Amino acid sequence: MRYGESKEQSGELLRMTLPLMARQDAAFHPVSYTLWYEHVAGTNAALSEVLETRLRENRPLSEDDVYALHTRFIVSRVMERMEQLQQKLRRLLEEVAQTASEATESTGRFEIVLENSRTQLSKPAALENVRAIVGELWTETARMHAATQAVAEKLENKAQEVGALTEQLERAQTEAMSDPLTGLANRRAFDRAVGEFFASGEDKSDTALLLIDIDHFKDVNDTYGHVLGDKVLRAIAHTLQSNIKGRDLAARLGGDEFAVLLRHTAGEGAARLAEQLCTAIHAGRLLRDGKAQSGAVSVSIGLTLHQQGDDAQSLYARADRALYAAKGEGRNRAHFEPPQ
Ligand code: GH3
Ligand code: MG
Repeated sequence: MRYGESKEQSGELLRMTLPLMARQDAAFHPVSYTLWYEHVAGTNAALSEVLETRLRENRPLSEDDVYALHTRFIVSRVMERMEQLQQKLRRLLEEVAQTASEATESTGRFEIVLENSRTQLSKPAALENVRAIVGELWTETARMHAATQAVAEKLENKAQEVGALTEQLERAQTEAMSDPLTGLANRRAFDRAVGEFFASGEDKSDTALLLIDIDHFKDVNDTYGHVLGDKVLRAIAHTLQSNIKGRDLAARLGGDEFAVLLRHTAGEGAARLAEQLCTAIHAGRLLRDGKAQSGAVSVSIGLTLHQQGDDAQSLYARADRALYAAKGEGRNRAHFEPPQ
């Protein structure tokens, strides 16, 4: 969606959000700013209700509250928009069908007139009758011409509308399925892909799931600020994406948690990749003018392989246990949870 406020109006809104944001525990970053901006602009009534209650009860928003509210009241709006667009498209297609059936009706009537004229002319007829028949044929042809032209114009307009709507829908769909910060698939897209994978008849052996969580990311934010924290998230997303193949899928599940689904990759290959990711991420630094902007950041990875009888839930649960173990063993490592 686009914000419609002018520069002056948005400046005024910015001024209004600051004292409200200052009363919260969460930092002044774009995610929390979006919430307060929409609140003071009065464009998100459901969100305002929650924020006003929190203000009234004097319960400041924590970082986690902010991210949860963002998912609930901002991200979900994209889904609503998609549903609206889909509904519009359905209505438009019904109108197209209606126009097409009007066209069929006109053609049907024209065919009847033609058939009648043909029958009448196949018998000897008086000149006046022939004139009358030809006259009727002429009138009907002119009517048919006008009707088909109108239908063609209507269909042309509708086709343009359908084209524009389809484009908007595609854009909304991309927005709904990707994480705006990193450009990776989001949780919704990842869950859907995993669900489709389990529902398919595809060979599931040699499938691995990696759950990746940044170590002490809260400290990274606290030390270097959220802007740099966001850069770290983007850099990690880039490392994941550049280490996997086309058939694999990397996603940001939310916060500082990522996932990778590997296909046609045997256990040793998956373990090697997990190690490789840990090493690459730990070695990486954000640079500005050739100088490091931050210290080392590490991740912990939970790795598991698909086993007979798995569904999405059991696979996730095993990877999650593996991730928990990797954290417990000291972080900056991958833990492999073998099939039972
Ligand atoms: P652990 O090693 O146990 O995972 O520690 P942690 O600090 O990473 O764990 P925790 O889950 O407590 O903290 C995650 C933090 O991630 C909290 C939140 O401030 C931060 N975070 C979540 N989403 C974002 C984001 O989009 N941008 C930034 N900069 N920080 C985020
Ligand atoms: Mg973490």
